[in-house]
Amino acid sequence: MAGSAKKLLKPMNIGEFAGIIKTFKKNNSDFRIIGSGSNTIIRDGSQIPLITTNHLSQLEFDKSRVCVEAGVKLSTIVCEAAQRGLSGIEFASGIPGTIGGAIFMNSGAFGGEISQYVESVTVVDENGFVRDLSRTELEFSYRNSVFHDSEMWISSCVLRLNPSTPEEVSRKNRAFLKAKTYSQPLTMPSVGCIFKNPKGDYAARLIDSVGLKGFQIGGVKVSTKHAGFFVNIGEATFEDFQSVYTEVFERVREKFGVKLKPEITIIW
Ligand SMILES: Cc1cc2nc3c(=O)[nH]c(=O)nc-3n(C[C@H](O)[C@H](O)[C@H](O)COP(=O)(O)OP(=O)(O)OC[C@H]3O[C@@H](n4cnc5c(N)ncnc54)[C@H](O)[C@@H]3O)c2cc1C
Repeated sequence: MAGSAKKLLKPMNIGEFAGIIKTFKKNNSDFRIIGSGSNTIIRDGSQIPLITTNHLSQLEFDKSRVCVEAGVKLSTIVCEAAQRGLSGIEFASGIPGTIGGAIFMNSGAFGGEISQYVESVTVVDENGFVRDLSRTELEFSYRNSVFHDSEMWISSCVLRLNPSTPEEVSRKNRAFLKAKTYSQPLTMPSVGCIFKNPKGDYAARLIDSVGLKGFQIGGVKVSTKHAGFFVNIGEATFEDFQSVYTEVFERVREKFGVKLKPEITIIW
């Protein structure tokens, strides 16, 4: 997460999470939910209170099903699944963030997506009620879900994985992590890929083609390793980010007629 929040609320359990949301909604006050913030940029001076799911961290396995609270890190699920020889989410090796954030944006890599393994999601609605949504109600598509356009927030989910062996799952985890480390600037601070891939193409290829790989304003630089990432080379400000974002967006639109869409969340 880049930027700083005015107010950060940290519910300790799902009851508190629901209570806080209910209070905000009752008072007609704006707020945002945040997992680990790995995919979010906050405008300097933003006044919007954030509710973090950091403490919603329970996970429980029952054979090949796993019940996971929204704040559990993807890395924890990847690791625990490997120990039990459960296969499916190896593609998430090296993706930072929580399962709540991953469901929100239907995180994916190497042809896999979290939507393939989600059986159901428990949500808190605008009245603070907790209820279950089935797979079909989640409206998953490429880096999208029902949560982009609804008054519901993820409190937990059930994933269904596939029986395999610890050795095989660990082997796949290592292979995906190696491929990710090779192609992405994982040692530099970033919020992941900034833009969604347009249909039939790659945002990184378009950015590279307009000559903006390595383009820099202030502390924000288009990664020379993967042009889909902007990296913070030190003291990056929201204005630096916005300037680089606008330059990339405009240059790609001028040359290719493609209007890139953000993959990240920007909190104003
Ligand atoms: C180095 C790096 C590599 C990455 N690689 C990939 C990749 O390969 N594939 C990929 O898909 N992503 C990738 N990402 C993006 C991102 O880390 C993941 O998608 C991650 O799942 C986001 O989780 P988070 O908890 O950090 O989300 P946050 O940044 O906290 O939130 C992201 C969005 O989800 C919403 N949200 C979070 N929790 C909830 C909730 N409980 N209920 C409702 N809405 C919620 C937030 O409001 C926000 O709109 C990468 C990021 C980085 C920094």
